[in-house]
Amino acid sequence: MVTIEEAFSILKNALPNPKVAQVVLEKASKHILAEDLYAPISMPPFRQSAMDGFALGLYEGVEYEIVGEIKAGDAHQVELQAGQAVKIFTGAPVPDSASAVIQIEKVTVNGTKLQLEAPPKQGVNIRPIGEQNLKGELILEKGTLLNAACIGFLAGLGLTHVQVYQKPSVGILVTGNELVAPGLPLSYGKIYESNSVMLAIALQESFFGNATIYKVDDDFENTKIKIAQALDENEVILISGGISVGDYDFVAKALEALEVETLFYKVKQKPGKPLFAGKYNDKMVFALPGNPAASLTCFYVYVLPSLKIISGFTTDFGQTVSKKLTHNFTVSNARNQFLKGYIQGDEVTVLSHQNSSMLNTFSISNGLVYVEDGGYELAKGDVVEVFVI
Ligand code: AMP
Ligand code: MG
Repeated sequence: MVTIEEAFSILKNALPNPKVAQVVLEKASKHILAEDLYAPISMPPFRQSAMDGFALGLYEGVEYEIVGEIKAGDAHQVELQAGQAVKIFTGAPVPDSASAVIQIEKVTVNGTKLQLEAPPKQGVNIRPIGEQNLKGELILEKGTLLNAACIGFLAGLGLTHVQVYQKPSVGILVTGNELVAPGLPLSYGKIYESNSVMLAIALQESFFGNATIYKVDDDFENTKIKIAQALDENEVILISGGISVGDYDFVAKALEALEVETLFYKVKQKPGKPLFAGKYNDKMVFALPGNPAASLTCFYVYVLPSLKIISGFTTDFGQTVSKKLTHNFTVSNARNQFLKGYIQGDEVTVLSHQNSSMLNTFSISNGLVYVEDGGYELAKGDVVEVFVI
């Protein structure tokens, strides 16, 4: 049995290094950039009109002669003399000979005659070359979490691929003779299997893709075979249930038989005491308790930070926020606890139904309140640490 802090530090030292992969831009979002990126072009690449209006061969006067038109995408140059203007549209290239663009709203047009209210300032409404970035400039740093704006920014510079840290493939193996898939009739002694879908969705919500789900009954040989298969097909496996000390809990024995290295087994915490973490070559194995609330708590506290670190995030374990309790609370436990809580602003309320088998209040929880072991009173207004979920 290890403490929570020990479990965190063991994991930190054992997690495999992030792997780099070249991906198409469309697949890069929610990944961490694995390279410094330099601009392949200046943006804008040419002097660009910021307005619909007229590009002017500037002089002191307010009357101009319109000599042509340039729309977005056009490539022709127009040689403007002082006092000449060309009609121009947003995004169109401004001729080298023009030194300002005046908005359509600020002029009067009569045939080819253009009348201004006042002479505009030099350079106005012209986006200079490289106004956003110059060719060769550092545009995004290694370690950036890519989002829609990043993707648009890079696409706008003509990039089609980037190097990111790969996200590991994840397999979820569910154990238990008593488990029945939702939708089927429930006979006496059985319960509906909910951990696989819960963990799969928790992964999806955190952008860890589509997990492969495996199921096995409480049988040593079958458990061994399924774990071996899941290990073969994934980089990280999550096992649900069968990790306690009951006569029909075969996960620990199967992991041992498969020579999965134990990083730790059992953590001094509630819920989630039976948690196991192991390593098989460069692959990570987490065996989570079957009780649904314990399973999900271990997922958020241990598995998710691990997956993020493996994927190049700078996340650490045990990241909490400080909140004030909305009520008095009596602590009485020999283990440190993660309690389903509800955060509102800078306050947090400990919810009812804390049993590890119950998900009803987990469903409305947005944070796990962390309380140290012992027997003591917490008062309304006391500051507690909360794992945000
Ligand atoms: P175990 O860790 O296998 O001893 O299971 C602990 C408790 O969690 C038992 O009451 C199981 O029936 C329940 N449980 C185990 N796996 C699941 C699951 N996949 N979905 C829902 N409940 C489960
Ligand atoms: Mg079981």
